Amino acid sequence: MDVDDETRSELTAAVRRFVEREVLPVASELEHADAYPGALVEQMKAMGLFGITVPVEHGGLGLDLLAYVGVIEELAAGWMSLTGIVNTHTIAVGLLAAHGTEAQRAEWLPRLATGEVRGCLSLSEPDAGSDTRALTCRAERDGDEYVITGTKTWVTNGERAGLVALAARTPEGISCFMVAKDPGPSSGGITVSRNIGKLGYKGLETVEMRYEAHRVPSTAVLGGEAGLGRGLPFILGALEVGRINIAARAVGVARAAFEAAIRYAQQRETFGKPIARHQAIQQKLADMGTKLEAARLLTRHAAELRQRGERADVEAGMAKLFASETAFELATESMRIHGGVGYTTDLPIERYYRDAPLMLIGEGTNEIQRMVIARGLLRRHALDG
Ligand SMILES: Cc1cc2nc3c(=O)[nH]c(=O)nc-3n(C[C@H](O)[C@H](O)[C@H](O)COP(=O)(O)OP(=O)(O)OC[C@H]3O[C@@H](n4cnc5c(N)ncnc54)[C@H](O)[C@@H]3O)c2cc1C
Repeated sequence: MDVDDETRSELTAAVRRFVEREVLPVASELEHADAYPGALVEQMKAMGLFGITVPVEHGGLGLDLLAYVGVIEELAAGWMSLTGIVNTHTIAVGLLAAHGTEAQRAEWLPRLATGEVRGCLSLSEPDAGSDTRALTCRAERDGDEYVITGTKTWVTNGERAGLVALAARTPEGISCFMVAKDPGPSSGGITVSRNIGKLGYKGLETVEMRYEAHRVPSTAVLGGEAGLGRGLPFILGALEVGRINIAARAVGVARAAFEAAIRYAQQRETFGKPIARHQAIQQKLADMGTKLEAARLLTRHAAELRQRGERADVEAGMAKLFASETAFELATESMRIHGGVGYTTDLPIERYYRDAPLMLIGEGTNEIQRMVIARGLLRRHALDG
């Protein structure tokens, strides 16, 4: 085991202990109440989980994507919402680390690393989800400032965030602005106009945000003047990490559903024997275990490629597609194996069942993933001439 492997395993083990001791005892209660897990978030800050991928010189743990993926799987196996609190934050970190000017990195990364400032990503709009090029939020130059006007939606962590990575139209095309704000329902010209109710993924806010002539300094353009018009490729590149994150989350939820099923199948008896000894249940467990393993391997492979700086659009898409479909299927199969109790609020199976579908939709729907994968494969296997 090299040093990196050892550091990753130590971090994963520490997060697993945190989940067992602190998350599992409270997750269902908080989730059913749709309550923000403030105490858990403070512990996650103390563990450095908001700065896993932030370089050490900026105060982070300086670890790689593989370490991040390991942490996300553990958190999601406990309560998927905790990964949502870290994910768009980590995308904002990735945007700054890859494309920020030195001044932008120095200004934001140390405070993002500790979680003192929480980051979020604001790409989607009411009429621009899959079709990102349809976005209409605009930023107009006025001297040393930009004036931002528009409505953004589906902003996860939007209210509590102190920094928004925002996609807005400028004359050069779509640009990414790093917008500072005060956490809370309003800040300058920004208003949280709606808190969106959700099937699952509870405890953290997903909001609509209105920008009414909100002013930011011109230095807020990610990458400075050179970044003008390059926001969409910046964000779509960062979303590759987002997709690997969704895949890791899905692996975590799938694992929790599988482990609950394989435990229960050995305890519950029908017709004089544990249900695990009925062949129909064994067939289910075999398929579930195989898909879980395949999902994890696809996810780690995509993380390794991306970490090495290789193109990973196809692999990240494949991991996200397969792992999310697996989580959705395993949550349902686990519920079937649990019979009636799987449908009650006494067990977390119903939560996995409500959380899993988000992974089919978030960070690009699975229909869009298939388009990305097919395009990438056709490019790689193009016939000459
Ligand atoms: C809980 C939650 C949290 C989110 N958090 C964030 C966030 O923090 N930041 C952010 O920017 N966004 C966020 N999103 C937005 C998310 O990325 C979008 O919902 C997603 O990209 C889909 O966009 P849409 O909802 O507008 O669906 P649409 O684009 O309207 O799609 C509707 C349906 O049509 C299909 N479709 C669309 N185009 C095609 C096509 N060309 N070919 C075939 N099928 C197609 C889709 O797959 C889908 O089935 C979040 C969403 C949810 C539900």
